[in-house]
Parts: sequence; structure tokens; C-alpha cells
Amino acid sequence: MATLFVSDVHLSAQRPDIVDAFEQFLQSQARQADAVYILGDLFDEWLGDDDDRAPHPRITRALSGLSESGVPVRIMHGNHDFLLGASFEQASRCSLIGDPSVIDVGSTRVLVMHGDSLCTRDTDYQAFRKMSRERDNQREFLGLPLEARAERAAALRGQSREAMRLKPEDIMDVTPEAVVEAMREHNVRHFIHGHTHRPAVHELEVAERSAVRIVLGDWYQQDSVLIWSGGGYRLGRISDI
Ligand code: MN
Repeated sequence: MATLFVSDVHLSAQRPDIVDAFEQFLQSQARQADAVYILGDLFDEWLGDDDDRAPHPRITRALSGLSESGVPVRIMHGNHDFLLGASFEQASRCSLIGDPSVIDVGSTRVLVMHGDSLCTRDTDYQAFRKMSRERDNQREFLGLPLEARAERAAALRGQSREAMRLKPEDIMDVTPEAVVEAMREHNVRHFIHGHTHRPAVHELEVAERSAVRIVLGDWYQQDSVLIWSGGGYRLGRISDI
């Protein structure tokens, strides 16, 4: 039995192959897990819990099936799906967890985050993040018809793609000092996040002790998963479970 971690699946109707692969994962390998954590950007675009465009209903059903089979599923907001809310929770029978959260995996305390809040060198993005997380702004946005929300989101994505093209590579990665600070603040030696699409296991030092930061990969290139069982963990692919 293992605890499984995935992130950045970015489910969308544009990539039916990923939707099929993820649904298959929920219906097979995930059923054997102790728990499944999805650390953000499960959906490529979620514009409110009434956003019933494909593949949302199908994936919500598959998540609910997995939860009903007895596997706890915990989902964190990413920067693409931070509008997942209480109605989604109810329909999917999953629990939304805060970013950051500290969880127990076996006897190990682990910090989990999506990762975008640690990209502190990207000040434009951090300003947008702050604005878009404000309750009043969200209420206003969610009050628009779905079509108007989709138009606004498409415009924002166009701007963001253009901005990303012009930014140096390292700005898009997490800031090392922000990582150490978060791990120190939560007093952990293990940290798992996604967002950067740069899967790796990094060893570092936090408060003069050895520590580990595990970065989950995305599902655009590979079905990245972290398999944590007993005392050990392995960053691999779904076929490794
Ligand atoms: Mn992300």
C-alpha cells in the first residue's frame, strides 16, 4: 500500500489522451492506494463549480468513484484551478486542502504546496495571484456568465503566455531561499510540490539538517507520480506503481 502524489495533470478537452490516462489511473492503480494527493492544476481551466465543460463532469464522477471505494482523495488548488470550491468537493467526494498543508505520511511530516507561491522572483505573477485570490474579486468573477468568464480567462492566458516568453528561465522556478524559509517555518525535512514541471528530488539543508524537496512532474510529457510506501519513496510513472 502506498500514498500517491500527482500534480499538474492539466486535464482539458484538448488532450483526450491525458483525460483517458488519468481516468484509467483513478479506476485502477489509485484504488490500491492508502491515499491520493493531487497537488494543484488537476484541471487546466476551472472557472467555477458550475463549469461543466468537458472533461469536468467525467473526471468529477471518476474521483467520486475512487473516494467511494474507500480511498481518501485530497486536492489542492493550483494556479489553473484555484476556483475549485465546496460544490466540487461535494460532487467529487474529495477534500480540498489548503496551500500550504503539513500532512503525515506514515511517520513522516511532509509539507505539501502547489509551488507557484514560491516563484517569488516573478513579481507580476505574484501580484496577479494575490488579486485573483481575493474574495471580492472572486465573487465578482463568479457572478459573470460562464461564457464571459471563459472569454476573460482566454485573454488572461494570452497575456500570460506572452509574458512568460519574455521572462528568463530562472524567474519561472521556485526561489531557493523561499523554499528554505517555508520548510523552516513548518519545521519539516520533507517537502513535495509541483507547478514548475521540473520533476526531481533535490537534497538541501534546512536549519543545519539534511532535507529533501521533491518536485512532481506534469502529465503533458509523462504520467508523473510520487509513490511513497513504508519508509521510502520513488518519483516515477504510473506504470511503476
Ligand atoms: Mn501550476
